Amino acid sequence: MSIDLHTHSTASDGTLSPTELVKLAKDSGLDAIAITDHDTFQGVPEALEAGKEFGIEVIPGCELSLESPEGAGWMHVVALWIPEEPEELKAAFDWVIEGRANRNHEIVDKLRSLGINITYENIAARAKGTIGRPHFAQELVSLGVVSSINEAFKVWIGDNGRAYIPKRKLMPKQAMDILNNIGATSILAHPFALGLNLPKTEELVRGLMDDGLDGMEVYYSEHDEAATKAFKEMAEKLGLLISGGSDFHGTVKPKISLGKGKGGLHVPTELLEKMKEDRRAKGLPV
Ligand code: AMP
Ligand code: ZN
Ligand code: FE
Ligand code: FE
Repeated sequence: MSIDLHTHSTASDGTLSPTELVKLAKDSGLDAIAITDHDTFQGVPEALEAGKEFGIEVIPGCELSLESPEGAGWMHVVALWIPEEPEELKAAFDWVIEGRANRNHEIVDKLRSLGINITYENIAARAKGTIGRPHFAQELVSLGVVSSINEAFKVWIGDNGRAYIPKRKLMPKQAMDILNNIGATSILAHPFALGLNLPKTEELVRGLMDDGLDGMEVYYSEHDEAATKAFKEMAEKLGLLISGGSDFHGTVKPKISLGKGKGGLHVPTELLEKMKEDRRAKGLPV
């Protein structure tokens, strides 16, 4: 009995439509999935509809990228149970997406200045929703500039790539306030990606908890057994909800399977029950 609470669709940079994603979840035997696209909840209504059609529970969610402290790597938060019309979150995402639009043009300009014949139009044509670096990676592969998505990130658009451009991000406190105001359950995504040792990770997590963080993604495709154990202990010690997900993106992350990650991922359904209990106790809808 397992679930997957971190997945992407074509509403951001995944390759399956929300309907296809939910159908795959059902066909994979999962009890529930959350749709958690980057900086958007555009795919949520379709996913909820598909959940009803295929008979599987779908949690409406999204993933936010936060400005991380000096020295830390990616700080992402998965928001679960976002309401139907989260005005405040929509305004924040509009601001983030405006930044993305500028950034995408900058990445195109940078790649072109480095001799690559890439166009904004071809990138945009690859995206149905939020444009992100995986769309650039796919285009670089199809142009024959690189032979894999991985190489595209490594050489060109990854954080150490030749055409890397940072993106506009929300401040942690600002994001947490919004998520609390709209009654979402907030989960620190893939804590390993902070790139910090355990004491420093804990310090940062405690800070986020002061701002209202509810849980931590303990089960994750890139967490090995030792990392999973360490984050589980940390979450239990701090009294955080425990979450888990694959970060499934479809064919742009070919090694990651829905619900199974790289093969060994198993996110127990009972975690979802615990989250619901926590929400009910707070008077929030499930
Ligand atoms: P963006 O939000 O535009 O910065 O793009 C972030 C997306 O790129 C996330 O889905 C990441 O998982 C993905 N990504 C980052 N680095 C890599 C990589 N080396 N290989 C594949 N995907 C990556
Ligand atoms: Zn993504
Ligand atoms: Fe993430
Ligand atoms: Fe993700």
